[in-house]
Amino acid sequence: MSKSVHGGFLESVSRNFDKAAPHSGLHKGLLAQIKACNSVYQMRFPVKIGSEYQVIEAYRVQHSHHRLPTKGGIRYSQKVNQEEVMALASLMTYKCAIVDVPFGGAKGGVAISPRDYTVSQLQKITRRYTTELIRKNFIGPGIDVPAPDYGTGSREMAWILDTYITFKGGEIDAAGCVTGKPVNQNGIQGRTEATGRGVYYGIREACSHKDDMAALGLKPGLEGKTMAIQGLGNVGYHAGVISQEEGGVKIIAVAEYEGAVYNKDGIDIKKLFKHRKKTGSILDFPGAKNMKQRKRVLEVDCDILVPAALEGQITKVNADKVKAKIIAEAANGPVTADAEEILLKKGVMVIPDMYINAGGVTVSYFEWLKNLSHMRFGRMEKRFNANKYRNLVETVERMTGKTIGAKEKDFLTKGADEVDLVRSGLEETMITAYDQIRTNFKRNKGINDLRSAAFVSALKKIGSDYESLGIFP
Ligand code: GLU
Repeated sequence: MSKSVHGGFLESVSRNFDKAAPHSGLHKGLLAQIKACNSVYQMRFPVKIGSEYQVIEAYRVQHSHHRLPTKGGIRYSQKVNQEEVMALASLMTYKCAIVDVPFGGAKGGVAISPRDYTVSQLQKITRRYTTELIRKNFIGPGIDVPAPDYGTGSREMAWILDTYITFKGGEIDAAGCVTGKPVNQNGIQGRTEATGRGVYYGIREACSHKDDMAALGLKPGLEGKTMAIQGLGNVGYHAGVISQEEGGVKIIAVAEYEGAVYNKDGIDIKKLFKHRKKTGSILDFPGAKNMKQRKRVLEVDCDILVPAALEGQITKVNADKVKAKIIAEAANGPVTADAEEILLKKGVMVIPDMYINAGGVTVSYFEWLKNLSHMRFGRMEKRFNANKYRNLVETVERMTGKTIGAKEKDFLTKGADEVDLVRSGLEETMITAYDQIRTNFKRNKGINDLRSAAFVSALKKIGSDYESLGIFP
């Protein structure tokens, strides 16, 4: 890894890697190869905005080619810089390995604030960025597959696909060149909510272990636990809604760009979202108090804190003020390495980004598989299963002489739709990965945090891929 800014994001990732690496049992040379960013493409391109020409700074970093394609989102933010994209690309490699998504890690970034541009200007920038990637062979279903990240969404992904097809129209698998696309543009049901839903499954899993919860002074289970959320974007919003509706969690504080709100009796996230849409702000939400400073949301007394905005939010400056017992890193890198040392001493459970927010890339993988198979999930078996369940229920009815209600019958005899399969695949993935991380944590006496345990899980898998090549001992 290149020299990094002291106290910066890349340095934090590097420190975390170094802390965990000795517990992986891998050779030093192999660890150095895994840690390094393989390809860094820095570009500058001109775009005509109004009557002026702007030179846009952008990146695509492929961190690891141990598996192909490489995979990771594209971020649009004024703060984008090479180190940030390198750190994010590294996290993607470990993230994919943890959840058994067979890709290397990558990330892209365009140094613009989307708020400063019109939709057609954003389209121009996105298409030009994609053209640069095509030119340098940095995109393709078997090469490198972007997805949404901070500041981008399905709209940008549709533009990327359309640009790709313009140049590579004859490629049969072209739709797999990008994920997170709109459902009617070769996307998949359930991708939008996937990261947030994965965060929910991960927290639910972490909270299901009686002894782990007892160590935090908490009861097992999610019902009634309090939560504070930083960021009501795609990740924070869905994590909040699903935790509330499916887990019975009480959300007591939410922060966004314009400020933060607090209500000890709970905030309905869907209503808060509507309120923001109507008024342009989460502030002055009926029943809730406005907080003086939005960053104070990180210091709210609650069971679970979900930082779902950007990196570097909990630092050595405010770590000591955190009162939450569990931090679920829905964003990438919200807790710095310095801050984590303080939090661990306080006994806080930090569920690391590379596991807890892996739901997005997991469902991206499902979307990519759907694109390569050229068929939606469930098409072949849905009716077959539904008919089989119906026969079964009707046989039982005949044999017992009793019948069940129409609603109950529909529920019991339903075949799985695409969204059901996506959710079930995601749930299975998050549970299995947590189990692996927890086993590392419990069995290896030298590991005393979940992040190191997650790193070890990733390093062992990546290491065995390299070992099978015979390059390293
Ligand atoms: N940007 C998301 C992440 O950080 C999703 C990446 C993807 O789906 O490739 O994990």
